[in-house]
This record gives sequence, C-alpha cells and structure tokens, in this order.
Amino acid sequence: MKIVLYDVTIIGGGAIGCTIARELSRYQINVALLEKEIEVGFGTSKANSGIIHGGHHGSPDSLKGKLEWEGNQLWDPLADELGFGFRRIGELTVALAEDQLPTLNALKEQGEKKGVPGLELWDRDRLQQEEPSLSENAIAALFAPTTGVVNPYEACFNLIENAVLNGLNLFVSSPVQSITEGPDNTWILQTPKKEYRTRFVINAAGVFADRIAELAGVRTFSIHARKGEEYLLDKRLCGLVKRVIFPCPTPVSKGILVIPTFDGTLMVGPTAEMVEDKYNLATSSAGGQQVFDFVRNVVPGISARDCIAEFAGLRAVADGEDFIIGTTSKKGFINVAGIQSPGLTAAPAIATLVADIIRDEGLSMSLKDDFEPAVPKPIHFASLPTEKQIELARQNPSYGQIVCRCELITEGEILDAIDRGAKTLDGIKFRTRAGMGRCQGGFCTSRCMELLSRKMDVPIPEITKRGGESWVVKPRTELTAT
Ligand SMILES: Cc1cc2nc3c(=O)[nH]c(=O)nc-3n(C[C@H](O)[C@H](O)[C@H](O)COP(=O)(O)OP(=O)(O)OC[C@H]3O[C@@H](n4cnc5c(N)ncnc54)[C@H](O)[C@@H]3O)c2cc1C
Repeated sequence: MKIVLYDVTIIGGGAIGCTIARELSRYQINVALLEKEIEVGFGTSKANSGIIHGGHHGSPDSLKGKLEWEGNQLWDPLADELGFGFRRIGELTVALAEDQLPTLNALKEQGEKKGVPGLELWDRDRLQQEEPSLSENAIAALFAPTTGVVNPYEACFNLIENAVLNGLNLFVSSPVQSITEGPDNTWILQTPKKEYRTRFVINAAGVFADRIAELAGVRTFSIHARKGEEYLLDKRLCGLVKRVIFPCPTPVSKGILVIPTFDGTLMVGPTAEMVEDKYNLATSSAGGQQVFDFVRNVVPGISARDCIAEFAGLRAVADGEDFIIGTTSKKGFINVAGIQSPGLTAAPAIATLVADIIRDEGLSMSLKDDFEPAVPKPIHFASLPTEKQIELARQNPSYGQIVCRCELITEGEILDAIDRGAKTLDGIKFRTRAGMGRCQGGFCTSRCMELLSRKMDVPIPEITKRGGESWVVKPRTELTAT
C-alpha cells in the first residue's frame, strides 16, 4: 500500500483547527486533519459564549489582544461565504458603581489605540432608552458596535465542509496517540486505525495541546483547564436585551455576561473555575447560583426559573495566559496552544498567521486556481415565507414533516444535516436546532435517531448523542438480560 506524505497535518478539529484547515485549503498543498471525536467542533468550540469580541478588550501588548481585533474583522467575509449564523449586535460594558467608570474610559482608550471604531460612552439615560430592561443600578456603559454573535459549532461544520470540498483529508475518530520523527524531516503520527506521515504538524489540540507537544518531545508549557458554565434561557425572554451585556472586567475575568445568541434566545454565563480533570464538563448548583445572583443585579427580569439547558466548556489556559503560536525546537512542529477566550474571535487571524509561519518555514504554497470559497446555505424552513414553505414541501414532502415541534425543524432539514456530515444527535442538533428548544429533545430524539439509523444504515442502539459511549438506548438483548 502506498504511504501518503502530507505536507501539513493538523491535530484537532475545533474552531482553530477548522479555520486553519480552511485557510490552507486555498493552496496547492496536501493537508490532513486528525480529530479524536466523531465530529469536528465537539470540544470547547461547541461550548462557549459564541461572541465575536469587539476588539477592545485585550491589551495590544499580548498576542491574544492583537489577534482579537484582527480576527474580529475577518468574520464578515467568512460568514458570507460559508453561510453560518453571524450578526454584529453590539455590546455594552456596564458600570454598576462610580469606581468602575475609569475602567470604561481605559477600555475605550485601549480600543481606540487598536483602531476599533465606534466606541461610545453612554450615560444612564441613554442606557435606559436603548436597553430598558437593564437595572437602574447601571450608571454608564461603553458601547462597542463591532461585537457580534456567531453559531460556533455551525461555523466549524461549514469551515470543514468547505475545506473538504477544496481537498482537505478529514479523519474523525482518530486520536493521535504517538508522534515520532521520521526520515528526511518528516513526522509520523499514530492513531489506533492508521499511521500518518507529514512534513508539518500543527498542534491545535485545545486543552490537550500540552500532551501533544509532550508526545513530540517539544513541551515547554502546560495547559490548565478553566471551566465556564453557561445557562440557556427560555424563548419567552427573547429580545429582553438587544446587545451583549458585559460587566466591568476585573484583571482575571471578563465576568458573567448576558448574551443574545445568534438564534435569538438569551444565554447567561460563564463562570470561571480552574479544574484538574480535563474531561470535567459538569455544571453545578453553585455555578448556577453565582450566575443568576450576578445577572439579577444587571437584568432583573431574568430568573433561574427561565433556564432550559446548561452546559460547561473548558478554556485552554497556558502558563502566562497568552496564546502560544509558533515554531518549536524541532523542525516542522508548530504549536497553536493556549487558545482560551477570545480564541473563537481570533480564529481567522490565527489561521492566516499559521499559513504565514508554514510558508516562512519553507513550504512552497501557491494559490489554487479552482478554490471554491462557498458551501450551500442550509435550508431553514421556519424562517422562509409561507409561499416558499408550501412550494418546498410540494417539491419534497420531507420538508412538510415537522420533527422538532419547539423549533419547527423539518425532516428535510435533518436529512440535509446528515447528508452534510452529522453522525450523532448532537451533530443534528447543532446543525439544525432540533432538540434545542423548551422540551430539549423530548419529542424529536426518537425520530432523529430513526433518521440517523436509516441514513447511516446502522441499528438504533448504535446511535449516540455525541460519539464514544454516549448511547441513548440499550439493545433489546441487554434489556431482557438485566
Ligand atoms: C465557557 C467558555 C466561553 C467562551 N466564550 C468565548 C467567546 O464568547 N468568544 C471567544 O472568542 N472565545 C470564547 N471562548 C474561547 C473559545 O471557545 C476557544 O478559544 C476556542 O473554542 C478554542 O478552539 P480550539 O480549536 O483551540 O479548541 P477545541 O474546540 O477544544 O478543539 C481542540 C480539538 O482537538 C481535539 N483533540 C484533542 N486531543 C487530540 C488528539 N490526541 N488527537 C486528535 N484530536 C485531538 C479535541 O477533540 C478538540 O476537538 C470561550 C471558552 C469557554 C470555555
């Protein structure tokens, strides 16, 4: 069997690995991406606040502060080409006491030095006029029109779909277990199924980037996990605030936010807690209490009773708190590590930086003549005008069958999601919103499982929520045995 030598192999298919893969797919080079989970975007990139930060939060003296603003400006063309949910809704950093006013001024000054446009200080009257649901304790705020919200998982799916369309070799369920140096400045990456040979390795393994660097013998840093719990609220609160609401930041945290998500629902969080276990994604009553106690002070109309779902994500925090992006002591091994918040915001800028690094390291990179920048926009039945819905359902009756009643998602949309790569219930949910509503999948889970089973030709007990051992039902034989 002929062994393929890839020019570049990316380890990790989160927002960072996916944007790098898409950027590299513009060039006439042979690129692979190895992801340990069953689908891309299933690490921290599906469990965050989904904010494209305005650009003014991070100090320009840090790499993350610099790439925050650069990345922010690259999201419009990406969303236009790839059709994922992204909207610039603006942000308010709110002062609840006089002694917080200097922080607002300092943030404004920092943003203006970085070139962030449109920053404005608003007084209490303006705040009450623009956001009447804010507490009267809010005495002033810094408004940033550049802040946006994105569907982060949808961005990962569409980035990777486009990269594959342009020639990326994607290998999911492929955890890298060992890394050795091969002949002629090559690397050998071993997964349980297969061995991969490559000239360049990009370590984009999120909270596990230190382990990957260790395997390659180039570890000079540790990655610590800082957990953030987030709470999704009922649709009843849609529109309560129009912009992302930040508290005044402290030196260690941006604090707990009120986030109007791209889909219109509100989310509150995240907490910030260091954890030892990099698989610890549990939410806690203490975390919930902290979030809702804080949020009540800022937007009194929000209560813990409005929570319909909760989740946690792990920020990959490197020693020194900054991003670690660059070459290592061994030729061809490049770290993209410590990509904590605002990693999502910075992702497109990180991708171009990595392409530049690889070029500087000697890889010849000519642009493809036939690069295809777009993927088809998914059909979102519920947002179509009635005449269009009728026409679509006539042409294809599967669009006339509602599967998720809370979010009005049709069978046709779920089948489209499976055709475009969904292999799990979460894969369907994050592509279509089926199962994201008030009943959290109570009505549609069994139907989604049937559709997955039929399309993938696997028995229902093999269908998982998110891969691995996250099965939903037991086989009949096991049920009768227990
Ligand atoms: C609660 C929370 C809120 C946040 N909010 C924001 C925000 O609003 N805006 C913002 O800009 N940023 C935010 N962030 C940060 C942002 O989510 C991250 O910076 C970003 O998702 C990091 O992407 P990544 O690709 O590096 O990591 P991940 O998404 O974790 O991807 C790493 C991938 O590597 C894979 N992997 C690991 N080991 C291996 C292996 N051995 N072999 C193969 N694959 C492997 C993993 O399975 C994973 O898919 C937030 C983070 C958290 C936790």
